[in-house]
Amino acid sequence: MPQLVYAAEDLAGNGLLFRDLFLDGNPCPARLAVFGDPVAHSKSPQMHNAALKKQRKPLQYVRIQVAADQLEGALRNLEPAGFLGTNLTIPHKQAALEFMDEITPESRLMGAINTVALCEGKLHGYNTDGPGFAAAVNESFGVELGTLRVLILGGGGGAGRAITVQCALAGCPTIFVANRTLEKAQLLSEEIEENLEKSITPIRLSPAALENSTSCVDLIVNATSLGMKEADPSPLPDGILSKDHLVYDTVYSGGTTALTRQAQAASSKYANGLSMLIHQGALAYEIWFNEPAPLETMRTALEEAVRE
Ligand code: NAP
Repeated sequence: MPQLVYAAEDLAGNGLLFRDLFLDGNPCPARLAVFGDPVAHSKSPQMHNAALKKQRKPLQYVRIQVAADQLEGALRNLEPAGFLGTNLTIPHKQAALEFMDEITPESRLMGAINTVALCEGKLHGYNTDGPGFAAAVNESFGVELGTLRVLILGGGGGAGRAITVQCALAGCPTIFVANRTLEKAQLLSEEIEENLEKSITPIRLSPAALENSTSCVDLIVNATSLGMKEADPSPLPDGILSKDHLVYDTVYSGGTTALTRQAQAASSKYANGLSMLIHQGALAYEIWFNEPAPLETMRTALEEAVRE
């Protein structure tokens, strides 16, 4: 089904466009959004509009196509357009940092934000991917993230960095961060060491290094882009998972990935990124409204959207 997408210029107008929106026959102005480029694929509107409806909030959440050179203007136009805030997706999560008036220290260390809230006219930036991941691990495996020895694959990317920082904040006893470009993993380890006084071991995403580190961790997280396309190989070599491993693949396509198939074959417990997507969304909702999010409503809506 083609998804409704607004343009960045629409935010700069007089808000007329948004008054034309209806939800269940009731006029509901757009007051929340996701900015991205591209953005048509985003499932966040389905998840958040279900939550807004459930909580009887007379507003709605829309997709807005924002190019890199439009980001600052679109963020500045949120307040005059009457918005409460926005989510950010690729390619804006890192670039938006410089336009915030306030950023939480954790988000700064994660190097990216995915949620913006307007507070007395000021732009406040948050990263809910990291805490969303911790909640997803707890929900999927019934354990606290901080008790686990972890290997993060793709720690040099945006999601991998947020997850690595979250593992350090949670106090995971052992953290390996593997990346195809080793220098990015090394730089991240140095930053975490400097800011959190926590030691992280950077490794190359190579079969030998992965084999060694896999044998001394409980949880393996895929935060590489591998798995987003059906034909993608697994980031892990075959034959190194055991039934004692927990495997979290941040890919949330709904189907299996080469990594989750390896986990299945090894009888490891595994989960896909849908739970992280739900929890990062629920945390954004809680920032905007300062009340608990209707988690199960959001889950049902997202599962349905992913199946479409
Ligand atoms: P990103 O910033 O572009 O990072 C991509 C990462 O994947 C980098 O570490 C990159 O390594 C690595 N990579 C890319 N191609 C590779 C390959 N062929 N072999 C090995 N490593 C490769 O992307 P991102 O936004 O962090 O997204 C990464 C994954 O996280 C995606 O699968 C995305 O769906 C998922 N994600 C999930 C959620 C959720 O809520 N579930 C939220 C955000 C992201 P180099 O540094 O060497 O390039």
